[in-house]
Amino acid sequence: MMLGAHIGPRTRSYIEQADVVFVAVSDPIVELWVQQMHNDVRSLQPYYAEGKSRHQTYREMVEAMLVEVRGGRGVCGAFYGHPGVFAQVPHAAIARARQEGFPAHMEAAVSAEDCLYADLGIDPGGVGCQHYEASQLLFYRRTIEPSAYLVLWQVGLAGDRTYRRFASGPELRQLLVDRLLVDYPADHEVIVYEAATLPIGQPRMESVRLRDLAAMDLGMHSTLVVPPSRAMERDQALLARIQEIEERYA
Ligand code: SAH
Repeated sequence: MMLGAHIGPRTRSYIEQADVVFVAVSDPIVELWVQQMHNDVRSLQPYYAEGKSRHQTYREMVEAMLVEVRGGRGVCGAFYGHPGVFAQVPHAAIARARQEGFPAHMEAAVSAEDCLYADLGIDPGGVGCQHYEASQLLFYRRTIEPSAYLVLWQVGLAGDRTYRRFASGPELRQLLVDRLLVDYPADHEVIVYEAATLPIGQPRMESVRLRDLAAMDLGMHSTLVVPPSRAMERDQALLARIQEIEERYA
């Protein structure tokens, strides 16, 4: 996620020892950093294009890596954040390689989620934390638990069904707000979060009332954090049964 910071020794060694490295990161400068770890680093960035289906982009990225795997080369895909978190290409590439009989492995890493807990001072174990892809709240009926944190990924793309845009418009964003208003009050404060990708940068942590969210500048790297709007409710029935058990052993 952050240049110079979030890379483990094993990850670095996979990059250095591969025959060819494919890279898809959050920032052109981060890409340059990976470029100097190996002499054959190929950017996956050019596969993205406004107006081109992301499904097509993803297929091409997987195929580009698989061509080298089939050629008998050691291939490393370097993706920003955790390669397996809200990311289809790394999972698909590994599954495909295994299907074709090649060994493949994913290395865990630091995702936007981990940065969020540190920057915003949130412990997901405190009252619990739900993670959803923002569009899923619009396309499907999901149950939100307002006594836990809610983290919405890809909020800048919420509601986009074309899979061809880099941002959804104000009307779709308003639909997301309307959906959240089913579970939260209009003046509930939510946080637009963007982790810093360069050590000299600062994270964006912008509070806004839910009713004003649609007007916010939301980009490809924005994550929405919705703090709990009410306290956890005690489960009196189960607590009574626990007490019975405790008394039996007292
Ligand atoms: N694999 C990445 C996530 C890729 S999906 C990871 O582990 O972090 C892209 C989504 O991740 C974005 O829409 C946004 O919700 C989140 N994201 C990516 N970069 C971010 C950043 N710098 N700060 C906060 N969230 C980010």
